[in-house]
Amino acid sequence: MKKIYRVFVNITILTTVLLTHTNVYAQNSFDKWFKDNGLRIDYYHTGTDKTEQILFKELKFEEKWGGRKNNLIDKFAYGSYFVEVFDLKTKTLIYSYGFCSLFEEWQFTAEAKTMSRGFPESLIIPFPKNKVKVELSSRQYEDNSFKKIFEIEIDPADLAINYEKPVNAEVKKIFGKLEPENALDLVFIGDGYTKNEIDSFYEDVQKTAEYLFETEPFKTNKEKINIWAVAAISLESGTDIPHEKIWKSTALNTNFYTFRSDRYLTTSDYHSVRDYAGLAPCDQICILVNTETYGGGGIYNFWNITSAKNSHRFEVFVHELGHSLAALGDEYYADEVSYEDIYNKKLEPYQANLTTLVNFDSKWKNMLDENTPIPTPVTKENLKTIGVYEGAGYQKQGIYRPYISCKMKSLGVDFCPVCQKAISEIINFYAE
Ligand SMILES: [Zn+2]
Repeated sequence: MKKIYRVFVNITILTTVLLTHTNVYAQNSFDKWFKDNGLRIDYYHTGTDKTEQILFKELKFEEKWGGRKNNLIDKFAYGSYFVEVFDLKTKTLIYSYGFCSLFEEWQFTAEAKTMSRGFPESLIIPFPKNKVKVELSSRQYEDNSFKKIFEIEIDPADLAINYEKPVNAEVKKIFGKLEPENALDLVFIGDGYTKNEIDSFYEDVQKTAEYLFETEPFKTNKEKINIWAVAAISLESGTDIPHEKIWKSTALNTNFYTFRSDRYLTTSDYHSVRDYAGLAPCDQICILVNTETYGGGGIYNFWNITSAKNSHRFEVFVHELGHSLAALGDEYYADEVSYEDIYNKKLEPYQANLTTLVNFDSKWKNMLDENTPIPTPVTKENLKTIGVYEGAGYQKQGIYRPYISCKMKSLGVDFCPVCQKAISEIINFYAE
């Protein structure tokens, strides 16, 4: 097994490319194409380190649509996977988004070289009024291009669509005045809280939200954000800590020791997570785990997970939200190389805060002072200088970060200006 140096754990792998579709765009026409509900496409993402296959499970109706209604077409092209919804009759592209997944992280483990494995995933789209075709594409490591790996035609009148309400849990709005379609909706779900610990969950959400709103750029954008709490009740208190032989029965099945990394707190039970998330209008899933053990994880447009009782919990949460909300890369690295193959240094990564200098014009070059050298030396004078500092994305060489120190690198510091800009753009995209 590779030695892991990551303080926080998350990988948003691979890189940026312009989407090749030239179909007619359908911005600003939500009511023409969609109803005010969600449609979930459940499947299993399976394969090895070099192969992948999608095994369809079922379609599920979701009562709430909390997502975008104005910006229906994704303009960022972040993430390793891309979903596109086409009106079947006119072939118009009517909705799209990018995301990352736990499966792709597993593909970089030693285990993936020796066996096939499958992980539950879901695509979430607004409920279509007419027949649609949904396509899922996967970014290719060699050249950044997207390759279609799955497609499905959906008839909204199909009697096989599952309308069952899968779970029951109390939902509370903790903060925010806006309608969901005009806000970024963060949905907090508790894991490892028993029936008697639900008040503790609400308190954890409240405190986490207060910390978030003291952190830029969330402070400035506070009025564009709604915070929801879904009180999932677990049978037992805590979470699985396999390397300490601790196992707990919990609603979302979270666990440490993911891919044999002690601190990597995740859940592979994505369909259960979505069951709870579907109870609230949801743009981002934020899972708080009732444990004091340090850890967390954040995957772009998938979920972020944080230990709710650890002393670093708030900072870890905000860091992980940087991954899950804005697809930011980690700006840290180690002297010894780990995860050597994650970024293809011949290509520009898609993460807004990382560059290989292959296409720096597409990144934060316009935020640089004209006298700032590239690469920029790490000196005391440069502590507040936007530059191009070597060492980021787990690599000591060949990948550059915009600031000497940033929340995507260390605890106890602010997001750098480049990360703040990227996060603000995403918040506005949801809230416009
Ligand atoms: Zn940064």
